[in-house]
Amino acid sequence: MSFGIWDVSIHSKIDQIKRINTSKQIKSKNIVNIDVQGQTARILGSSGEIYEVTLDHCTCFDFNSQRGPCKHIYKLAAELDLLPPTPTFNAEKAETFKQSIPAEIDRFKQQYLAGAISADKFIKIVNALNSK
Ligand SMILES: [Zn+2]
Repeated sequence: MSFGIWDVSIHSKIDQIKRINTSKQIKSKNIVNIDVQGQTARILGSSGEIYEVTLDHCTCFDFNSQRGPCKHIYKLAAELDLLPPTPTFNAEKAETFKQSIPAEIDRFKQQYLAGAISADKFIKIVNALNSK
């Protein structure tokens, strides 16, 4: 499912997954008003500014710099029940992934030992792979 002018493929890009995730932190009380029929909203930003949001456009800095859906657009889409569904936890897939972690860590260790990535980056990757 998509909404507005956006091709559905945009929502699975890493930066957009981050924005979708961040949009869930926008509190309902920060939605100043929403027009369900017109599919528009006014959303209070953390800087105290009120953004004018449609499914295609937002007046925030992020939208104006990257011209793709921002967290406000995703929040509006979620309120209108138009947000693409996020993956649900799959215990079997999680177990398969868990078993692959030592091999993944070894792969990045080889990159570290070859000088391709820094110790900091290697440690961050290991910590991320071992996190819940
Ligand atoms: Zn925005």
